[in-house]
Amino acid sequence: MKLSERIESVNSIAIAGHTRPDGDCVGSCMGLYNYLKENYPTKDVVVYLEDAGNGFAYINRIDEAIDKDDDEKQVDLFILLDTSDLSRIGVANKLFANAKTTICIDHHISNPGLAMENIIVPNASSTAEVLFDLLDEDKISKETAEAIYTGIIHDSGVFKYASTSEHTMNIAGKLMSKGIDFQTIIDDGFYAKTYAQNQILGSALLESVRFFDGKCIFSVVTEREMEFFGVTNKDLGGIVEQMRLTEGVECAIFLYEIEPLTYKVSLRSKKYLDVNKVAGYFGGGGHVRAAGCICKGTTHDVINNLAERIELEFKCTTE
Ligand code: 5GP
Ligand code: MN
Repeated sequence: MKLSERIESVNSIAIAGHTRPDGDCVGSCMGLYNYLKENYPTKDVVVYLEDAGNGFAYINRIDEAIDKDDDEKQVDLFILLDTSDLSRIGVANKLFANAKTTICIDHHISNPGLAMENIIVPNASSTAEVLFDLLDEDKISKETAEAIYTGIIHDSGVFKYASTSEHTMNIAGKLMSKGIDFQTIIDDGFYAKTYAQNQILGSALLESVRFFDGKCIFSVVTEREMEFFGVTNKDLGGIVEQMRLTEGVECAIFLYEIEPLTYKVSLRSKKYLDVNKVAGYFGGGGHVRAAGCICKGTTHDVINNLAERIELEFKCTTE
């Protein structure tokens, strides 16, 4: 599919990602938004994104993102990014349902093809990488490059996850040649933590528990703890990645409470466990080494249910 042809043939375009947006979601949505604003100034382009926190304030035009749905509006083309599940579209649900045409650009292996046209590349490091390949390189500005680079950095864990390829690095090189401030994007946008974020990270690590002979580790953050440390769920990024690094661990499980008896679950694996399958069993999804879902019950129930599926998955996997 030629994305440029689709864009040229319409007047109004909406861009959106998933609920509780992460760096790849923000980076790919804002990358495409900046690209369209700069190269197609006569078109009516809007971007829908939930507030992703101050960490992304350096991204050009981020203040233009709309965080509420619009029942009335019908766009010619809706481009959905980094979203593999209709229930996760979040702020632009109705707009997506009402759109005349839809395209989904994604890299989630669990994406069944949510739109009329789908460009899903499961082995890409990030949706931002898939997006880059669809754009005209010469028309990518420094601002667009900064957003796309942000997406790649966040979803590849600064070029270290298994999905990072030679192609990822080549794209990163091309983005660097646009003059982006890559050090700031990595340091301030990815690694920097507030004092409160470090405290909740420390607390989650201190209270983490290992099981299955140290192959699994879990930790839970409750709403009360978030309140105590003065953080929100946007401040919990990186905790599960640190748990995954624990020596001997194959699978890290991190839960945080979203409402009483309801938990957002993040799963990470190191080398061989397919956590997408585990999350998929509970109605979630993601990637082979990073996936998530929402589970109901007490923390005890949630961990027990997850552990049961993980044990089954361990049994059918050879190291
Ligand atoms: P995280 O643990 O960082 O929230 O998510 C890890 C990966 O799994 C991301 O690629 C994310 O899109 C996906 N993911 C997380 N939660 C869910 C969920 O509830 N449903 C689906 N389908 N994917 C999820
Ligand atoms: Mn992604």
